[in-house]
Amino acid sequence: MASDSFEVAIVGGGIIGVITALGLQRRGIKTTIYERAPTWHEVSAGFAFTRAARECMERIEPRLVEVLGSISQKTDANTCNSYWDGYHPRTLEEAEDETKSLLFRTPTHNMDYWGCVRSQFLHGMAALLPEGSVQFKKQLASYEDDDKNGKVVLNFDDGSTEKADVLVGCDGIHSATRRAMFGADHPASEPVYAHQVAYRTMVPIDVGVEALGSKTAVSACIQTGPDAAILSYPVMSGTVLNIAVFAHDFEPDSFPDPTRMVAPAKREELQRLLEGFSPHLANIWKVYPEDSLVKWGLFDTASNPPPTYAQGRVCIMGDAAHGSTPFLGAGACTGVEDAPVLCTMLEFVQQNKRTPQSASGDNLLRESLQAYSRARMERGQWVARNSREIGDCYMWRFGPTGRDTKKFNEKLSKAYHYITNYDVLGAVEIPAC
Ligand code: FAD
Repeated sequence: MASDSFEVAIVGGGIIGVITALGLQRRGIKTTIYERAPTWHEVSAGFAFTRAARECMERIEPRLVEVLGSISQKTDANTCNSYWDGYHPRTLEEAEDETKSLLFRTPTHNMDYWGCVRSQFLHGMAALLPEGSVQFKKQLASYEDDDKNGKVVLNFDDGSTEKADVLVGCDGIHSATRRAMFGADHPASEPVYAHQVAYRTMVPIDVGVEALGSKTAVSACIQTGPDAAILSYPVMSGTVLNIAVFAHDFEPDSFPDPTRMVAPAKREELQRLLEGFSPHLANIWKVYPEDSLVKWGLFDTASNPPPTYAQGRVCIMGDAAHGSTPFLGAGACTGVEDAPVLCTMLEFVQQNKRTPQSASGDNLLRESLQAYSRARMERGQWVARNSREIGDCYMWRFGPTGRDTKKFNEKLSKAYHYITNYDVLGAVEIPAC
């Protein structure tokens, strides 16, 4: 670590906060994570990273790919997602009959997902952090970007404060950093409830095969239907099936507690939601736990995107910047893309701020954060918007592609192409110094 490094404070020790911290530390930049939870916490649910996201990880810190690779169920470049009619087939045989029930398979576009368990990935990455780089039980309440001292002052809800040269908000969709950046009354300060919920579980693969059938339980599948859809894919070397039931929420009110992502749920809700689906899917509630079941409220920034991802010495990343619903499976992948851009910009500042011919270090820092924002805004907004539209297609909500399977297929195919064929650093303009 360079002794004259400036100091970065990352708020939020989730996937993106930890990835970013590792990338900055690798570049010799002193970085501390402030996490509100008392210890590392991530749920035991699956998520998957595209090849494009893994290439970003390689640039950020190659050990990230090693960690991910050691815990992932890997698909190859020819694997595709399949989309099924989960509603009309009346027997498992009919449901597995591709001529009757398969809507389409998406071209892979070299997506070759690596699916893993979120908590395993977070713990694996956290083990790489140097000692002393995390402070737990630190919930950001607000900050002041102090021009007099050229520092950002972080105010935590326990009354304590910390100072840093840069504040990076990786504090998720309900970001306190974003709220402090724009003010509580700004439309971008709060995410919007998409009126969609997710019920997630993981079951041993034999239980999954028994429930969903041997054809669909062994690869990434989406069973579509009216107002609900079921996503499943294997994780943990194919020994465990990750299942998520997504459903439209008809309640006019917001999610029970709009500041939290989960609320208690009952298996009967699932039973009711999938009534009328193909019988084996209508019974999927039986593989969910009776106790401790929760539902996730799906929030996004699609209709109220932040007007910038950076202001002064502060920036936002990951879900804090472009939280989206999960239907493109690209929320975390998009956050991963933010990290090489920010790391490149801050490394540039680190290298140049003391050269005599450079603009003042402080100006360079602000300009570099603006350059980060410009490089990431369009992509972040696109993902949030398109994920909403794809979710409507999954749940037969007659979104932009209507009932037309061909158009739905084309829309997905275009979306995946855009997600996987994108030059992340190509969008970066390095400021003059
Ligand atoms: P988070 O994971 O929300 O982490 C934020 C962290 O900040 C947390 O640790 C939190 O405790 C902390 N924090 C919050 N507020 C404060 C505060 N004020 N002070 C201090 N700390 C704070 N993405 C994919 O790419 N692929 C997938 O397959 C996929 N599947 C998904 C399935 C579902 C059902 C859902 C809901 C999402 C899915 N996503 C997927 C999206 C992905 O989960 C998110 O994009 C990703 O978790 C965002 O990471 P993050 O670090 O930005 O935020």
